[in-house]
This record gives sequence, C-alpha cells and structure tokens, in this order.
Amino acid sequence: MNDQRPPKPDLHPATRAAQALGRIVPPYGEIVPPIHLSTTYERAADGSFPGPTYSRDGNPTYRQLEALLCDLEGGAAALTFASGMAAAGAVFQALSPGDHVIAPRVMYWALRKWLVTFAKPWGLDIDLFDNESPGQLDEIRRLVREETKLIWLETPANPTWAVTDIAAVAEIAHAAGARLAIDSTSASPVLTRPIELGADIVMHSATKYLNGHSDVIAGALVAARDDAFWTRVKYLRASGPVLGPMEAWLLLRGMRTLFARVDIASRNAQRFAEHFAGHKKLVGVLYPGLPTHPGHAIAKRQMHGGFGGMMSIRVAGGEAASMQVAARLRVFKRATSLGGVESLVEHRASVEDADSPCPRDLLRLSIGIEAVEDLIADLEQALG
Ligand code: PLP
Repeated sequence: MNDQRPPKPDLHPATRAAQALGRIVPPYGEIVPPIHLSTTYERAADGSFPGPTYSRDGNPTYRQLEALLCDLEGGAAALTFASGMAAAGAVFQALSPGDHVIAPRVMYWALRKWLVTFAKPWGLDIDLFDNESPGQLDEIRRLVREETKLIWLETPANPTWAVTDIAAVAEIAHAAGARLAIDSTSASPVLTRPIELGADIVMHSATKYLNGHSDVIAGALVAARDDAFWTRVKYLRASGPVLGPMEAWLLLRGMRTLFARVDIASRNAQRFAEHFAGHKKLVGVLYPGLPTHPGHAIAKRQMHGGFGGMMSIRVAGGEAASMQVAARLRVFKRATSLGGVESLVEHRASVEDADSPCPRDLLRLSIGIEAVEDLIADLEQALG
C-alpha cells in the first residue's frame, strides 16, 4: 500500500476531491484517513525526530487536507488555520511595518475592521479602493507605489458581490513588485482558480464552502510559490492559530462533496436570482450571474461552471421592510455565515459597523442545496 500515492493529473478535480486525492493509508488500507490526536511525538534514541515533532508545528491529519487544497488551487504549498480570519491575518502579519497595502472598500467587514483598527496602528499603510466602481483598475494603478507590498482582493466580494479582474490586478501588482492575495471564499476552487490567473496567495474561510456543513471554523492559505514570504506565513501559523485535528478531519470530509455542493448551490442561485430579478417588491438582486450585475462580464471570464451560491437582495421600503421580510422567511434560516448546505439570510448592515458601505435595505442570502422551488416560494411568501 502506498501512503504517498500521487494524484493522477488526468483525473478531473471533482474526482480528486471526492477521493481526497485517493490516498490509501497503511497499515489497514483505510479509505478514510485517521485522526492523529497526539500533540507530541517520540524522538529516536539519537535525539532526532523520525516524524513530526509537536502538533503546533503541524499535525499529520493536515497532510491529506493541505495536499488536496494545494491540488485544487494549483499551488505549491498550503496551510490550514484555526479560522479564515487567522489565515488572512497571517498574510498581513507576514508583512513589515511601513509596508503599503491596497485592499477593497467592499469586503468581508470583520477583516476590513481588523485592518483599520489593528493592522494600521501596527504599522501597515493601508489604502482602500472602490471595488464597485468601473474605474477600479485605474484607482489601483494610481494607489500603487514603491512601498506597495500587497494587493488584497475579495471577489465576488461581500455583500454586494462586486467583481474584480484578478488577472489585470496581478499584472499591476507584479509590475510594482507586490504580491496579490485573493480571498476566494465565495467562489471556492470549483469556480475560480486565482493562481492560474496570476495570484500569489489564495485565502479561504474554510468554514464556508470548503467544509460546507456549518460545523467547523477553519481557514486556509494556498501559495503559488514556497518562498521566503511563505516561510514567514508558516512561522506565524506555528505561532498559534492551528487547526484542531478533529476539525481538520471534518474539513477533509466536507471537501469530498465540494464540487457537488457548489454545483447545486450555483444552479439554485442562478434560478433564484433570475426569478426575482425585476420583482416589484425589490430594488435589486445583486448576483454576478445576472447580466445586469456590474461585474457580470468579468465574472463570466474568471468564473467557470457557475457564479456561486451568494447573492443579496435590496428590499423596497428600506431597512424596516427588509427586516420584516427576513422575519417572515421560514425555509431560510436567519443566521450569519455562508456556504453551508442550508440557506441562510442576514440583514447585513446591522451586523457590520456604522460606517459600513453596506446598503441598509440589503439582505444577504446564502443559497443552499435545498429544492430551489422551496426557496423561491419562501421568499415569495415573505415579500407578500
Ligand atoms: N472571508 C470571508 C469572505 C468571509 O465570509 C469570512 C467569514 O464570514 C471570513 C473571511 C472569515 O472567516 P472565519 O469566520 O472562518 O474566520
């Protein structure tokens, strides 16, 4: 039995994910890998370590999981983290005080807040660009300077699902000697492979689509190159925000159904968005799969096989009306987070900060894998 059986490159990524790279674990030939709970490992009599040393540096349960992440993103190395925030934070903390960072104005709000309230006072010089503007590439070009070390993107971006051209920003970043990192949580490796488009680092809140069952908090980074910057990121992971082996095992189990889940959620979301586009009780349906979405043309180029399960609706009548609609939904659950098999709804502005760019009438919808007819009927009855 071969513990290190390499993945067959001719197999479709959906096959590689379903089989978790097909690795069979000796000595019992387990199809499902074991969980390694030990925190520490015996040294040889000469004091050397034949295997791992200590589980904060890395746990064998991560091996297959990180290999699969690396494979699906087409990267050179991958690391799992205790959360998506920990994974994102490691990228910024691997920079040095005085470095300049460019990030979008519309993005996962808790990360934007962390950048402004922690990373800025710590010493990073951060500019936010308007990723909802058709002129966003020009703005990034204007902001780039000698000290720029990182451009951060989220695409499609929470909660309006603004789309940014990854390949175009990669060119700008690399011409300036900066790295490009992408929060690809909402697209998942099923729909977008940022490294093929020129990104240097891909980040996931693995809590969302990668796991898919709303029962694990986890994060992941995949790097295009195993270079000096990545060595700093590895050091930061070993400094504390490690994933527990139970969570790692659950995440690998969740990832086996990633392609099926994302495919159903994307098809559900497309039908749902098309059904409600132009609805008289809505001001708008924000979904990159609709030709009316400002990012549709770019999304069509850089997303393959669908536009994902995330969308937002803007309810006619403002904040109070949108809260009432959320309150009347029965199939959608009122909860934060996204990317699970069950559909969720959230009044986003009341979760985010007072200075959030999120419209007050916006409800964020994470479309799950239920029968789409039930989801459509639910929103129809809630709109009244
Ligand atoms: N990035 C995006 C797009 C998210 O939606 C989230 C969580 O909601 C995060 C990052 C943070 O991930 P976590 O909650 O796993 O720390």
